[in-house]
Amino acid sequence: GHELLSQILFAQGFGERRVCDGLVLKGLVKVNGEVVDDPDAVFPEDRLVLDVDGLPWVTHVKALVMLHKPAGYECSLKPGAWPGVHNLLPVPLRRRGLQPVGRLDQDTTGLLLLTDDGPLLHKLTSPKKNVPKVYEVTCKHPVTQAMCDKLLKGVVLDDDPEPVAAHAAERIWPPSVDGPPPDVDTETLHLRLTLLQGKYHQVKRMVAAVGNRVEGLHRSSVGRLALPEDLPVGQWCWVEDVAVVLP
Ligand code: URA
Repeated sequence: GHELLSQILFAQGFGERRVCDGLVLKGLVKVNGEVVDDPDAVFPEDRLVLDVDGLPWVTHVKALVMLHKPAGYECSLKPGAWPGVHNLLPVPLRRRGLQPVGRLDQDTTGLLLLTDDGPLLHKLTSPKKNVPKVYEVTCKHPVTQAMCDKLLKGVVLDDDPEPVAAHAAERIWPPSVDGPPPDVDTETLHLRLTLLQGKYHQVKRMVAAVGNRVEGLHRSSVGRLALPEDLPVGQWCWVEDVAVVLP
């Protein structure tokens, strides 16, 4: 729909209406490259190209973003010992209170989606939707085929008598290893695990259940979306269409 410019700025997270009015009246807001100084000017509210006090901004009625999460950040909205991932987002998105789509541990890196779209959050996290998450795991001890088989068959975790199984579990070799693929007896510390659920510390607990230990954890994809190689650690970008995540 169409909205007043000041209302659009408010909805995008640029502050209270009074503050947004002020930004426009001071000539700090450009629409499609031109200063607009009337807060009541009417524009389409989505995909409007703005410059707000020097910040380039394309409006999104609902936000879905991906973040390349660094280690040392918490997903909690009320972080404790570590800074929250929200600190890595620009101020307007911080104000909009985006929710992480599932949580990554403080020491886990990789793909984290965040959104302020409630129904979408539900779709992406509901256990019924079975959205696959791929984790690159570095283990303390060599990963055996027997461990992978157990992970695929299902292991019992302490909070649920129902066994939980990996959707995929494969021993992998780091890409730095040249030459032909090593045979199954070659030792590796690397495991690629695909999970359909999102239980608390699920990877760490499943790996512990088969007698190994997680030393490093990185999420490389969620649904059909892989973490883009050109998204640096600590950086975020818009996900323009949820169809790139869900089939
Ligand atoms: N499983 C874990 O144990 N930790 C994460 O951060 C994600 C999945």
